Amino acid sequence: MTASSSKRRPTRILVAAAIRDAAGVNARPGAVAVRDGRIVSSGPADLVLNDKALDPSVVRTLPGVCLLPGLVNAHSHLELSRLGPRPYDASRGFTGWVAKLRQAAGPLDKIASARQGARASLAAGVCAVGDIASSRAVIETVRDAGLTGVGYLELFGLGETKVPPVDPGVGAEGVGYQPHAPYSAGPGLFKAAVESGLPVCTHLAETLEEHRFVRDAGGPFRELLEDLDKWRDEFAVMYRGHASSIQWMRPHLEARPWLLAHCNYVSDDDMKLLADTGASVAYCPIASDYFGHSGHRYRQMLEMGVNVCLGTDSILCQPKGETSPHGILPQMRYLFQRDRTDPDLLLKMATVNGARALDLPDDFATLRPGAQLPGAHLLTAMIDPHDETDPLRQLLREDQNLEVLHV
Ligand SMILES: [Zn+2]
Repeated sequence: MTASSSKRRPTRILVAAAIRDAAGVNARPGAVAVRDGRIVSSGPADLVLNDKALDPSVVRTLPGVCLLPGLVNAHSHLELSRLGPRPYDASRGFTGWVAKLRQAAGPLDKIASARQGARASLAAGVCAVGDIASSRAVIETVRDAGLTGVGYLELFGLGETKVPPVDPGVGAEGVGYQPHAPYSAGPGLFKAAVESGLPVCTHLAETLEEHRFVRDAGGPFRELLEDLDKWRDEFAVMYRGHASSIQWMRPHLEARPWLLAHCNYVSDDDMKLLADTGASVAYCPIASDYFGHSGHRYRQMLEMGVNVCLGTDSILCQPKGETSPHGILPQMRYLFQRDRTDPDLLLKMATVNGARALDLPDDFATLRPGAQLPGAHLLTAMIDPHDETDPLRQLLREDQNLEVLHV
């Protein structure tokens, strides 16, 4: 496109009761100017409206609306969407749940399920995901539906040492590896994933049983592996004498910045290792509580410099009746209502921290000039413009969903 033809395209100026992101854009009233799916200006409404450089422009007023950038879901399993929310049977424990999930997921049409989950994510205001996928076809389905981010190929096998090749070229961007967890993927797979140079994530420090497994190769995970005929005695040497699963993973953490789902059980030493190695933690608060893990140390992690972002985990862990089970707003609201967490911190976890975890551009999920809007969409939240309460606080205390605004 030539400069002259781009000049003829009108800029759209959206004037709202408030605009807000986690990168310093905060105005009430505020305005965002958009051209060709990219933000060209943002700030106090009068400043943007009086900016002569934005001509020609179309002005649209959005009374009672707070404009927000799209949100990032750093940990999802969209291919399980069709299973829907399922109750957790604590008497069978986490390994019982895993065994049941394997049965339920077996006959599932994962492509159709992932497509459904991706569409529902977009409708809930999610613009990028760190999604766990059983195949390249699932990753491409999610991307074709309009979600950006990373699709991580899920890998299993304690004795495995090779990752399936991802041919460079068309479609390879946004593909990563996910050795499933320390109890289901051996150190050889973690090492191979690191050496691939592709983005890497795993489930880590999710349960106390996992710590038990890396300490003495025993407990419920050992029993599960034996039941599934996946255990060999020679594996025991890989799982002895580790203080925690984060310490078990030390050599791999030191090799690359990882995205780690959950980290429900971490010591001070563990948090220091995560901070020192540039790891990101995808905290899925509703899922953590669903499994009965209380006392997540996300705020201490953030204070120590760990990049903590938010995820949903699978739809199975979401409450029945939740209208946005793929949304990140319910995760933010959950923490706001449970912990009184600072709304600005929650917005940061839901946007820029997630973008950093997925290695997206610095201005991704912000309203900063220059930011490309994925899918050309912004989010709107209804607020009371006469209420002095901070708009973000209004959004988190009320029971309302976000709407997607295509610009
Ligand atoms: Zn997960």
